[in-house]
Amino acid sequence: MMKLYNSLSHEKEDFKTHEPGKLSMYTCGPTVYHFAHIGNLRSYIMEDVLEKTFRWEGYDVTRVMNITDVGHLSSDADTGEDKMLKGAKRENKTVLEVAKFYTDAFFADFGKLNNRYPDIVQPATGMIEEYIETITKLMDTGYAYFAGGNVYFDTSKLEKYYVFNDHDVEDLVMGARDDVEEDLNKKNKNDFVLWFTKSKFEDQALKWDSPWGEGYPGWHIECSCISMKYLGEYLDLHCGGIDNAFPHHTNEIAQSEAYLGHPWCTHWFHVHHLNANGGKMSKSAGEFLTVSLLEEKGYDPLAYRLFCLQSHYRKVLDFSWEALDNAAAAYTKLIRRIAALTGEGEVDETVVRTYREQFQAALDNDLSTSLAVTALYDVLKADASDATKLALIASFDQVLSLDLLGHAAAVKEKEAASAGGEDAGEIEALIAQRAQAKADKNWAEADRIRDELKEKGIELIDTKEGTTWKRI
Ligand code: AMP
Ligand code: ZN
Repeated sequence: MMKLYNSLSHEKEDFKTHEPGKLSMYTCGPTVYHFAHIGNLRSYIMEDVLEKTFRWEGYDVTRVMNITDVGHLSSDADTGEDKMLKGAKRENKTVLEVAKFYTDAFFADFGKLNNRYPDIVQPATGMIEEYIETITKLMDTGYAYFAGGNVYFDTSKLEKYYVFNDHDVEDLVMGARDDVEEDLNKKNKNDFVLWFTKSKFEDQALKWDSPWGEGYPGWHIECSCISMKYLGEYLDLHCGGIDNAFPHHTNEIAQSEAYLGHPWCTHWFHVHHLNANGGKMSKSAGEFLTVSLLEEKGYDPLAYRLFCLQSHYRKVLDFSWEALDNAAAAYTKLIRRIAALTGEGEVDETVVRTYREQFQAALDNDLSTSLAVTALYDVLKADASDATKLALIASFDQVLSLDLLGHAAAVKEKEAASAGGEDAGEIEALIAQRAQAKADKNWAEADRIRDELKEKGIELIDTKEGTTWKRI
């Protein structure tokens, strides 16, 4: 049974779903105004492993992800500039062009890291009717109010405004808004925007009609509505990076439970940050690393995946090139060891069961991926047939998704190709030596080279244009 840390209870809990065997899973998707950085992708890798663990254990999983293409302001607390508008201005494109470009780029990187494409992907701009319906109900039931042109959620109407961590709510709010002036329309400091019609910054590009005037939705409402549309009133698991916990997830809980009138999501999974140069990697900070950049530098994206799996999702992960080099070297070595397995012998089901149990126990212990990777190394060291090892590797890789067998097959193919005969470069070098010998009228040496190549299965063909060769 999976024991997973729940940010709601601050404890590892036995994981239970609303309907036995079925798991509804929601993931906060990217804000598509820029490339995803490898910090964002750390969160998606760990969520992918979690999803695949549940699938491996037999759950029928449905995973939904939103794409934020409207309404996310540069401060998560509803102030600043719309991130999409910022992206459009930077690139002199329309918001829709920017959204399309970066959504495609996101899923290209997501795929390179072997993450499974979610069952449902919903752009926020496709759900305007649902937001209006939800906000209307919140207005009708007194949970929302209209002020200064915007609709706000009234947090004072809740019995408890939930925050995930141990900080004082006041601290968090002040902390989140250090550099921005307070929104005087708000009745309470934690109130948040459900629908914007007016804002302090210049005009928003995308606007829709609503009962409160032409405008656009706040960021938080999209995740509540998208989740409820596809996964119903009871959500089993909600994921995101730790920076989403407050205010985004806190506000999702507030509005969803006010709307539904009952508890909504039972389990909250937060991945801690990837840090670089001593701070959280972030898009707004300017410099950030992308999957393409790693590839340009010669890294296999799956080496980055292994780097992430080697540490626990609830610990900050410090990025350095040296640490990535170590992971890349470990990945190459791992693949070579797997490529050396022949597949001989019978699959021993007892051994398979033992190691599967070890692997599952690691993952069931709050997704201890590094111990799951250790289980893989233990299989390689095990006193078992190669066939048994390969069966286990294939099974583990359904979760780890390091393309272990695919990469090992590629290594084997390469080895076979180079073992199959002389390397073309060497042949060309010998042909050049022979041409020189002929030019020096050293016919004996020229014949010796021809014979040497013949012995290696290479026949030389002299033409007017020079000498070519073929394998015989
Ligand atoms: P965004 O595109 O900014 O909305 O973020 C997409 C996801 O990446 C969210 O779940 C964030 O919580 C997460 N995230 C942002 N920065 C980091 C980081 N440095 N390390 C890990 N996850 C992050
Ligand atoms: Zn969200």
